[in-house]
Amino acid sequence: MNNTPSILLVNPPIYDFSAYDFWLKPLGMLTAAGRIADGADSFDCDQDRFEIFDFLDRGHQFYSDKPQFKSDEWGRGEFFSIKIPKPQVFKNIPRYYRRFGLPGEIFTDFLQTHKPADFAFVQAVMTYWYLGYEEVIKGLKKYWPGTKIVLGGPYCMICPEHAEKLGADFVFCDGAMDKGITNPQHKVGGFRIQPRWDVYERIETAAMKITRGCPFKCTYCTVPLFCDGFTAKPIEQAIEELKFIVSLGVKNIAFYDDSLLYKSDEVLKPFLRYVIEDKIKINFHTPNALNARFIDSEVAELMVKAGFKSFYLGFESRAGQFQRQTGAKVFDDELAGAVKTLAGAGANLNSITAYLMFGHPRFEIQEVEDSLKFVNSLGIRIMLSEFSPIPGTADGKLCEKYIDMNEPLLHNKTAFPIILFGTEKVNRIKEMCHRLNHSV
Ligand code: SF4
Repeated sequence: MNNTPSILLVNPPIYDFSAYDFWLKPLGMLTAAGRIADGADSFDCDQDRFEIFDFLDRGHQFYSDKPQFKSDEWGRGEFFSIKIPKPQVFKNIPRYYRRFGLPGEIFTDFLQTHKPADFAFVQAVMTYWYLGYEEVIKGLKKYWPGTKIVLGGPYCMICPEHAEKLGADFVFCDGAMDKGITNPQHKVGGFRIQPRWDVYERIETAAMKITRGCPFKCTYCTVPLFCDGFTAKPIEQAIEELKFIVSLGVKNIAFYDDSLLYKSDEVLKPFLRYVIEDKIKINFHTPNALNARFIDSEVAELMVKAGFKSFYLGFESRAGQFQRQTGAKVFDDELAGAVKTLAGAGANLNSITAYLMFGHPRFEIQEVEDSLKFVNSLGIRIMLSEFSPIPGTADGKLCEKYIDMNEPLLHNKTAFPIILFGTEKVNRIKEMCHRLNHSV
């Protein structure tokens, strides 16, 4: 008799003004499933205990007759979405509000036609996406009333009291659901703890995280709040994980590391040498931003050779005062040097993008326009990363005078810059960014 509990993994739909599948994968939840499968959490191993319902899976058959949602060459693409009424707190935000992801009827049908699982894990990422988590929890409670619901992810860690009210049976507020870096001493049958990408019937894009934490303490970032220092996966574990993903037919892998290039002599470089020597054909991407300071010619060459197809560099602002006051993670000359080094290693300038923060409460010292022009002068693309105020961070504290930080919807990255600057200025900066990118 099989007594191992069955678990449904749910990646909820997104309620927001905009959303795009920029290699969005539920890595935290799949890692939690991997820990359970490996017996790390006192269960026995069982291949069949997991099922997944991923509202954001563009590989779902729902999309098979909708070519407009086809992925681009690197695995990104639009989600199906519908326009929905705006929550009252957004009444003055002149943008459409939408629900992104598979229609709710498909989930209802799934719940009605499948045997209820013992547990349902619901992944919760952005604080301002909680309407999606609420929708899933309501559906589970209605159709699978005996199933225990577990909610976990960054939202629960940042807004634990709010998360407790959504109706889940358990809320993981300590990041237990996301921890994928194992202690090297903890080996269960070798390096077997790995995210359960095999719960998908078909998957072309995946994500990896081979490090945890970051040596910096930027005032707008949650990483220093939740990660104590920097740790890396044992190289053997990272390689096992990569091989497993590749064996599933994945074409694109996004690194979700916060500081992928830190201590690269010990972590990334050996990993990439393995990829090159083993002739593994895969495209790598870096949506979580690379730190330009750590790009030396050796790591640049290894990245290009190993198959990195896009390089996103965190820059935020060229204003020295802003850089120093927010954590000093990178300066102008370091960005310029990194671009030169990457180009020297063979990276196409078109594949390099710098993130610039927009809508930060220290806007008076950020020199956004000047920063846009500076990045453009390097011949690379700019992506405006709209500021989302996060409770618990120093910069989140500065935002209390503009919004009610206890309402997670107001942490929204589209809404906050508009609240701060007004629509006209937001549109002007976006237009400028668009024009400069067009010139590259
Ligand atoms: S360098 Fe990046 S990950 Fe590290 S604290 Fe700063 S913003 Fe966060």
